[in-house]
Amino acid sequence: MKDLVIINGQINTMDPRMPQAEALVVKGGKILLLGTNEEVRRAMPLGAEIIDCKGNSVFPGFFDTHVHLTFTGLNITTLKLEKASDKKELLDLLLAREAGLAPGLWLHATGYDETKYPDRSLPTMKELDELFGSRPVLLERVDAHQICVNSAAFVALGLSIGEQGVELDEKGDPIGIVKDPANGRAHKKFSEDLITDEMRREFLKNACHESLKMGTTSLSALEGGALFCDDDVDVFLDMQDKLPLNTVLYHQTLDVNKVIAEGQKQIGGCIVLDGSLGSHTAALFDDYSDLKGCKGNLYYSQDIIDDFVLEAHEKGLQVSMHNIGDRATERLLTAFERACSKYPRPNHRHRFEHFSMATDDQAKRAAALGCCLAMQPSYVVGDEMIRTRVGEERMKRSLRFKTFMNMGLKVGGGSDAPVTPVSPFHGIACCMEHFLKEERMGFRDAVRMFTTDAAYLTFEENRKGRIAPGMDADIAITDRNVLEINAPSEYRDIKFDKTIVGGEIRYAR
Ligand SMILES: [Zn+2]
Ligand SMILES: [Zn+2]
Repeated sequence: MKDLVIINGQINTMDPRMPQAEALVVKGGKILLLGTNEEVRRAMPLGAEIIDCKGNSVFPGFFDTHVHLTFTGLNITTLKLEKASDKKELLDLLLAREAGLAPGLWLHATGYDETKYPDRSLPTMKELDELFGSRPVLLERVDAHQICVNSAAFVALGLSIGEQGVELDEKGDPIGIVKDPANGRAHKKFSEDLITDEMRREFLKNACHESLKMGTTSLSALEGGALFCDDDVDVFLDMQDKLPLNTVLYHQTLDVNKVIAEGQKQIGGCIVLDGSLGSHTAALFDDYSDLKGCKGNLYYSQDIIDDFVLEAHEKGLQVSMHNIGDRATERLLTAFERACSKYPRPNHRHRFEHFSMATDDQAKRAAALGCCLAMQPSYVVGDEMIRTRVGEERMKRSLRFKTFMNMGLKVGGGSDAPVTPVSPFHGIACCMEHFLKEERMGFRDAVRMFTTDAAYLTFEENRKGRIAPGMDADIAITDRNVLEINAPSEYRDIKFDKTIVGGEIRYAR
């Protein structure tokens, strides 16, 4: 491994002892020292590679605390429907893709969001049948909690009319829309029966490359389980050491012994206690504002959650589960409280994934337990949908990253890719542009969420998340000086010249 010398940088160390520096030395994969160009030149190791940043900004490598890595890779490789602004455009995209597909292959697409369409309508099963005949068509909603299918896919995915989540018309025929839990089961069947291990390896490679390109050097990979496929975990574990960035696996299963046998110290991820706001399946205390009588769904009983959390907690694992609605958060919080009072255990750092609608009381209790939060700032772009679903009042307590950070909770930023892009700077811009004025963060706090505080969530804060002597040389060099940026949205345009992991250049533009 070559030693590195980085000069002429606007280095944001995120280390309070020395917040800024101009240059640094990397030796044996660690930061050796940092200071001015002059100081560093004097200490330059023989044969070191010199990187001249030309005044551009440098950051500790970014974290993404919540990525479905295999699924993200699949998404990068599959047809995307985000651009469609109505049903017609969606169908046009499908027809264009179908023209190039060999017979028998699935027409698979992700990312539709009918809440953005003027009439909110999706193609019916009948329409899809007429257009694509016997070719199975599977369209996944942007939040992954709903699919839209034709008859061929309906049959191939083993869906049935009586199954919970399968939507029917007045005559009792399926209309093609499938929500959780049938959606989760269908998704699992799709990934198990149609995706090969070879494809999975390709997906992981693509997703890692995309992350490095965005300055990410460490990520929590949430793999396997009910919504996904346990084969993903086998392939991931087989490849983990060879992946070009740092990963911590969150195996999305309730099987504690299996995870221990895999050698993991953490368990969970998007084990969905509830669904999403977009599809009215996030579990709320009170009715949805746009659907009277509907409070969303809870997919696990308190007993099941309690038993799982207690077992994993007692066996020394860090536990993490998906909770969007306040009613789902209450279940997980209750389970954590029960486990911690039965077996007090310091430094467990149990995680809440999302925690999107948590109340003040819930946040205080989470802080008192020593839990931390994996939250996704990019969700703020769904503000119109959130307002419609929960109304003005409850909107004021949604996605409160800043409030929770100020309450002393460690809040780690993530993307929930492929739901939103794997881009820390997109997340950082979202923190600064929050739809709630009082939640808008300053730049440094937003960066903290994706570096130092994120590192805490995976017990890595003493090795990663800051640029300081002795820390791992995980470094992201941007293509500009961020001090010259005027509006938060400009952070999204930042590109990376180099991304360095453990002292090795893993991405160069
Ligand atoms: Zn989730
Ligand atoms: Zn997720």
